[in-house]
Amino acid sequence: MKFDVDIAFLVDCFKDIVSVPSPLGYGKMLDPVLDRYAERFGKKTFRDRRGTPYVLLEGEDPSKTVLVGAHSDTIGLVVRRIDTDGKLRVRALGGIVYSSLEGETVYIINREGKIFSGLMSCQKHSTHSFSGMAKEPRDEDTMLINIDERVSTKEEVLALGIRPGDPVSAEPHAVLTPSGFLKSRYIDDKAAVACVFTMLKYLCENSLKPKYNTLLAFPYCEENGLGGAYVPPEVSEYVAVDIIPTGPDTDCTEFTTAVCASDIIGPYDYDLTSRLLAYAEKAGCECTVELAKIYSTDAAAAMRSGNDLVGAAFGMPVFGSHGMERTHVDGLKNTVNLLLAYVLDI
Ligand SMILES: [Zn+2]
Repeated sequence: MKFDVDIAFLVDCFKDIVSVPSPLGYGKMLDPVLDRYAERFGKKTFRDRRGTPYVLLEGEDPSKTVLVGAHSDTIGLVVRRIDTDGKLRVRALGGIVYSSLEGETVYIINREGKIFSGLMSCQKHSTHSFSGMAKEPRDEDTMLINIDERVSTKEEVLALGIRPGDPVSAEPHAVLTPSGFLKSRYIDDKAAVACVFTMLKYLCENSLKPKYNTLLAFPYCEENGLGGAYVPPEVSEYVAVDIIPTGPDTDCTEFTTAVCASDIIGPYDYDLTSRLLAYAEKAGCECTVELAKIYSTDAAAAMRSGNDLVGAAFGMPVFGSHGMERTHVDGLKNTVNLLLAYVLDI
């Protein structure tokens, strides 16, 4: 690989960012963390009216502006009902797999920003107490949260300040194994956010400017397909850095990076995709080209929403997407290398 990127920083940055809950549509707790990382490299964040954070990198050639997006929201849950016995019923934010959340510690964030932990369970929560526990479906109608507080009535839960509409995030479980595998619930897409800051660190430490003015964007609403719906009008290219889910049709591995040529919406821009593949080759990245199946990105949202731009997507391949996810530091290195080759246009 061409660029010797700081993988220790990337992993630390990921662990830092993933430790702060930001379920779909809720960025209040992560905002100051993103501001801090930008400031560390001499940059200031700014936001549009929807709260999407941006960082502008001035390019050698300011006649063109491109955008690199890494969404900072994750899948999550929202409180939909408080039962008379004080248990919480929830609704999914994004593509939740309820079975993967059984037994998980989750965090409910109330309107005052106070966080309460709870245990996510099936309503048939004990093999000793319920017959047919294993056969009970795990879905919105059967799963509940048992708050880790002495509450047994709806009124007691309301007294804690918990209400319908409060966001809920699951424990992220970030682990780096000695063999270089990075595991967490939210590799999607906080590993990409960490890749973008690692790219920024490399540019900063090597006094490099991107070829064109480059907007870094960290939207909070990718998981419902809205993250790229608005794009500042000066942007002519939207490149989403996002997970590439591995599966039966893919050639990528957790050690490579991958360019997504087409997803559930349809093909990404042909020429921009071809350019990304050429950058990957020139930068010596291990890179495959993939068709993602039940998947899309903010770059597709940006194109679909009528913005006058072209879009493309690439990122680190991930095993087990929207469950407990896994990638490898080599996949992250390949991804940052491709990112650098793209913004430097070399
Ligand atoms: Zn994603």
